[in-house]
Amino acid sequence: MTYQGVLTKMDTEFSSPIQYYLVFENDFLNVNQLLDKNISIQFVKYQCLNCGMDKPIYRQGFDKQCFFEIPQAADWIMHPELSKAHLGIEDRNLEYEKAVQLKPHIVYLANSSNVKVGVTRKSQVPTRWIDQGAHEAIEIVEVPNRYLAGITEVALKDHIADKTNWRKMLKNDIDDESLETWRDRLEAYIPDEAKSYFIESNKETHIDYPVHKYPVKPKSLNILKEQQYTGKLVGIKGQYLIFEDDTVFNVRANEGLVVSITVN
Ligand SMILES: [Zn+2]
Repeated sequence: MTYQGVLTKMDTEFSSPIQYYLVFENDFLNVNQLLDKNISIQFVKYQCLNCGMDKPIYRQGFDKQCFFEIPQAADWIMHPELSKAHLGIEDRNLEYEKAVQLKPHIVYLANSSNVKVGVTRKSQVPTRWIDQGAHEAIEIVEVPNRYLAGITEVALKDHIADKTNWRKMLKNDIDDESLETWRDRLEAYIPDEAKSYFIESNKETHIDYPVHKYPVKPKSLNILKEQQYTGKLVGIKGQYLIFEDDTVFNVRANEGLVVSITVN
């Protein structure tokens, strides 16, 4: 069978293990069902997730022009502390910014290769944690807008990491940490404006991924350079497909590429 479509990050369903789906215009693939099968991935062309044109992808699935123009790719996406909709100040499109920023946001701790702090919209829990390949996570602050979440994250970054080491995450070179203990330790560093939103008592969420074999030395597949790759799928973690020969393919980092996938 061959499926073709533009890559967007895999949809996920929280179950044990996580269920992954590739969603194409005309096909819907449960990726878990491809485990232990040989699959081929072939690059076909670009398709910007905003304008649909066949132009090189710059970042986040958008070509360069779209990336620098559309509200979905503004700086406050990656840097929540730059959010200004709560002040009524427009960045690229105030309507869009109000709709996204003035919603409940969560500051969380997630452990994928180390414990890190992050921010997400409340509606994206636990999706965001799954996308990062976290094996455990906990919500520590719930605020009414993105700005408050952003300044909380910035303050906590002085005391905890905010990055994941993707190789460690994929190798499953991980520890089980008490995120409740981390939360209690970090409480003192939450900025005054957000202190009343601290979540005192909730429990860690544990996440179980469909991986039959972890890579020993993960090497990242550059499908633009290789054009084509064939291998046996042995796992899915975060937004990565893991193959038997230690090749890993980051689906999210390849958004906007049209590929054809053949299952043998
Ligand atoms: Zn475009």
